[in-house]
Amino acid sequence: MANILVVEDERAISDLITMNLKLVGHTYSKAYRGPEVFEILEREKTDLILLDVMLPELDGFEVMQRIAHLQIPVILITAKNSLADRIKGFELGADDYIIKPFEILELLARINVVLRRGEKGTSSFICDNVEVRYLERQVLVDQTPVDLTVREFELLEVLIRNRNIALSREKLLELAWGYDFEGDTRTVDVHIRQLRKKLGWEERIKTIFKLGYRLEVQS
Ligand code: CA
Repeated sequence: MANILVVEDERAISDLITMNLKLVGHTYSKAYRGPEVFEILEREKTDLILLDVMLPELDGFEVMQRIAHLQIPVILITAKNSLADRIKGFELGADDYIIKPFEILELLARINVVLRRGEKGTSSFICDNVEVRYLERQVLVDQTPVDLTVREFELLEVLIRNRNIALSREKLLELAWGYDFEGDTRTVDVHIRQLRKKLGWEERIKTIFKLGYRLEVQS
């Protein structure tokens, strides 16, 4: 679990986020204004920053510029849904971007993805007789390589990174196919069916009625 700094001047939103971080086992600190960020980062080991763009005094972009050298993962939070802002955020090194209003489950999923991306030494995932090697992009079942398409592998990675979290078909499309993919959500069903069959994960990948899927593992 991680120590997360929440930088958000709207207290109701800040409270909602931190309450949920605590529920899933993270610790957190809060900053309501840009300058507080620097004080907190000096005294606390921080694994991830959730950073609102619209802040008084210093906006999120200015904060990002000043902390870039620390190389702490940043997820930008903003009400602005402009492409220019998104691009600026990524240019400044944001790891991800979430637009208000957001679903808290989506935020938690994105946090998981960013944190796991940064995990050092995590090059494989093992569950039952299945081993997933991220770097080699290879999956072994009973030590025997199984052929997955690129998209099946991406989907598998998303499921593993968000294990035990229910993900909607739309969310899976977005995370595994990319923001701008305008595909049918039935595409997800087809790929899930393939993954279940190839990995023998009929029981592990649960169908969540009227929503989507969840990979269930003990961890
Ligand atoms: Ca704000």
